Amino acid sequence: MAKRRLNERQRERIHAIQERRRKKLEQHAELALSDVSENTPREGRVITRHGQNLVISDDTEHYIHCLSRQNIGQVVCGDRVVWQATDDGQGVVTAVLPRETALIRPNFSGEARALAANISQIVIVLAPEPMPSQYLVDQYLVAAEQIGVTTLIALNKRDLMDDAAIEAFDRQFGHYETIGYPVIKISAKFEHGLDPLIERLNQQTSILVGQSGVGKSSLIMALLPDIEIQIGRLSEASGLGCHTTSATTLYDLPSGGHLIDSPGVRSFRLGALTPDAVAQGFIEFGDFLGHCKFSNCSHQQEPGCALKEAVEEGKIHPQRLSNFLHMVQGLTTTH
Ligand code: GDP
Ligand code: ZN
Repeated sequence: MAKRRLNERQRERIHAIQERRRKKLEQHAELALSDVSENTPREGRVITRHGQNLVISDDTEHYIHCLSRQNIGQVVCGDRVVWQATDDGQGVVTAVLPRETALIRPNFSGEARALAANISQIVIVLAPEPMPSQYLVDQYLVAAEQIGVTTLIALNKRDLMDDAAIEAFDRQFGHYETIGYPVIKISAKFEHGLDPLIERLNQQTSILVGQSGVGKSSLIMALLPDIEIQIGRLSEASGLGCHTTSATTLYDLPSGGHLIDSPGVRSFRLGALTPDAVAQGFIEFGDFLGHCKFSNCSHQQEPGCALKEAVEEGKIHPQRLSNFLHMVQGLTTTH
């Protein structure tokens, strides 16, 4: 069926229908709240959220539509929660379990808001086009280290690169592998080289990040061949009609593991940081920080700088040190 744009009135009508459904569901759950005390509390994971409406998966991977109690704070995709079934086959989320990690982003009024919870891995997607930037990679790595997740780099559009292009890429990005960040070369378009990536996604809750145009949506499609089915199940479970892909959603990977996706998550960037957090984000600096001759060393011109010596001895890549200095300088000039 051909897609067509909805006009203003149709949109309003759909919105009104969804609003009515939502109200009805809420009333339902409020009524049911009094009964839940008799049902055993169980654990689940938040798949997606629309306002107070949550779709959670239980330990048997069933989707259940739940409402969250007002007083339990913000609940986001990926959260582990305690819920109780209501008599109408739905449920009420009564508590959010402590988060292992949270992806935080300030909202338009500057308050920190969680975008997603309990992610364990970030996949930085690069491509020959748009041109990859070591500085952007380092920013993502600092953010990842601060959140406390593992990171890997996926070079997409391998099919567009000849041997010389691969060699040039390895010269520029090969040092990340030495530092401890795996670099996997793939083609989302031709579904080539995906197995090592799929293997690393297993047992993890991952997100894809990277510049627009590197192929993140193509990679999502390649990794989730059944995404339409999953979205259909979600729409059915939520009772709210169509599930929008702009809502942050946790998908099941066929070979194990989960991917959390939404446009907001994909374009996640480094937030406000302290110079210390930046330093901790450059993990290979750990052995050298604090060993400079001067305790207030700026790691630029001073004699006896442990970081500069490490660069000279080939223990720190020169580009990492210059990106580090640039990043710290950015902090001091903007604050
Ligand atoms: P996103 O903005 O990161 O989500 O990128 P898209 O998935 O929309 O991809 C941007 C463009 O790159 C599209 O024209 C894709 O068809 C193309 N593309 C994605 N992956 C590959 C790939 O592996 N090889 C080639 N040649 N093109 C790709
Ligand atoms: Zn120094």
